Amino acid sequence: MVKIGLQINAQLENIEELKTNHPDYRFFFKIKCTNCGEVSDKWHDVSESERVGQSSRVPNGFNFYMKCKICSREISVDVVEHSNQSYTLDDSGKFKTIVTFDCRGAEPVEFSPQTGWIAKSVENGQVFEDIDLSEDDWADYDEKNKSAVGISEFQFQFIKLKK
Ligand SMILES: [Zn+2]
Repeated sequence: MVKIGLQINAQLENIEELKTNHPDYRFFFKIKCTNCGEVSDKWHDVSESERVGQSSRVPNGFNFYMKCKICSREISVDVVEHSNQSYTLDDSGKFKTIVTFDCRGAEPVEFSPQTGWIAKSVENGQVFEDIDLSEDDWADYDEKNKSAVGISEFQFQFIKLKK
């Protein structure tokens, strides 16, 4: 089992906090089988509120489960409980781990942010829900603060964490 952190990096404009709508947020990944090296060509989603792959051996299942279509090895991924963290204005322009996964037989290699992000404006500004970051940026206007808000230069990376 390997613990892998998803780090994001973005420029926040007049946004003090960016987070996922955890635990319902779906992390869209391309996943590599660590046994044979096959990378799935389709996107898979991992959500903390969903469990799949239940069996008599694993009655609670996993947040994500599949069999590698090349080597048939079982692959599973779980969101580590309480590992979700917000990305804040102080983090702007730097990589920060926003969630950690327990990966068995698998390694996520690509991430697509998609929808389900929540951003809170600075001071007493608006909260924007269900933001779509599939184009890697987002812009809107905060009526309360009378200012432009936005997220740009979105990047991600995965890091292996020590056990
Ligand atoms: Zn495989």
